[in-house]
Amino acid sequence: MIVVLKPNVAKERRDQLIEWLEGMGLNIHVSTGQYQTVLGLVGDTSNVDMNLIDSLEIVDSVKQVSEAFKCCNRKFHPEDTVIKVGNVKIGGGNFCMIAGPCSVESEEQIVGVAKAVKEAGANLLRGGAFKPRTSPYDFQGLKGEGIELLKTAREETGLPIVTEIMSVSDLDLFEDVDVLQVGARNMQNFDLLKELGHVGKPILLKRGLANTLKELLMSAEYIMASGNEEVILCERGIRTYSDYLRNTLDLSAVPMLHELSHLPVIVDPSHAIGIARMVPPMAMAATACGADGLMIEVHNDPQHALCDGAQSLRPEEYAELVKKVMAVREVSKC
Ligand code: PEP
Ligand code: MN
Repeated sequence: MIVVLKPNVAKERRDQLIEWLEGMGLNIHVSTGQYQTVLGLVGDTSNVDMNLIDSLEIVDSVKQVSEAFKCCNRKFHPEDTVIKVGNVKIGGGNFCMIAGPCSVESEEQIVGVAKAVKEAGANLLRGGAFKPRTSPYDFQGLKGEGIELLKTAREETGLPIVTEIMSVSDLDLFEDVDVLQVGARNMQNFDLLKELGHVGKPILLKRGLANTLKELLMSAEYIMASGNEEVILCERGIRTYSDYLRNTLDLSAVPMLHELSHLPVIVDPSHAIGIARMVPPMAMAATACGADGLMIEVHNDPQHALCDGAQSLRPEEYAELVKKVMAVREVSKC
């Protein structure tokens, strides 16, 4: 249920209403917009008398929210959420460029790539330390050592770091990571999601390989309902009938997620496509349809990459792409 307050309601009267609603065992999600304050009522509202609330002098309207996702619903929070990572803002018209290798492989590699992508215009560094691989015989990541190397790259460049967490038991190692990524394969690892609700850091939540948008939003809801409102949604391609491509990049997810939710939506064309030369056109398409940022794999030596070399751009290719993306953003504004 949402309660829309009349404009310019005194803070004391608003707080009294919140206290009264909390007294009914509900959690109140307050969204203060430029013109309107919206109270989102989370919990069992079956005994809440809508007509009584509607009759209060400070209340403009009361509506039922039929969707199962509440906290991430745009009805609860009409304005875009803007997530801050250091000096970088994501969402609400702020575009983020996350770039880096699939996996952290060595200090030389991650620091070299970090410097190159920064120079090209990236504002966040990615790199996997814990790798979810289809085969147990493939490179599984440098784990804790990989996180240490990401920190070194951050020291050298100032770029905040984004890296994937696969298990609750590794959480301590992520204490000094700026953005925790939940990969496609863990989108419905509900224990992990609930635990990340207690982490005071932004979570980059990727859409699962075979998950619907509603399921993605319900997973965001797990994190938010547990207390962490800083969730970035990421479309990374889904399994369909694609034969020549790794996945199908569902760009229609971007405007739909923006309509349904106030959370930022970014696109990862690298994992969606799997072929480096096709990453730039799809990155531009994602930009044109309103994505709040891009996550792109960049490797200094893709041919010898320990993971996902075929879809990784070289730093100079990434630099070219950034220029094109910026040009697309310019024309998309009109
Ligand atoms: C990744 O970003 O490194 C990754 C494994 O992506 P996904 O979870 O989308 O497959
Ligand atoms: Mn990868």
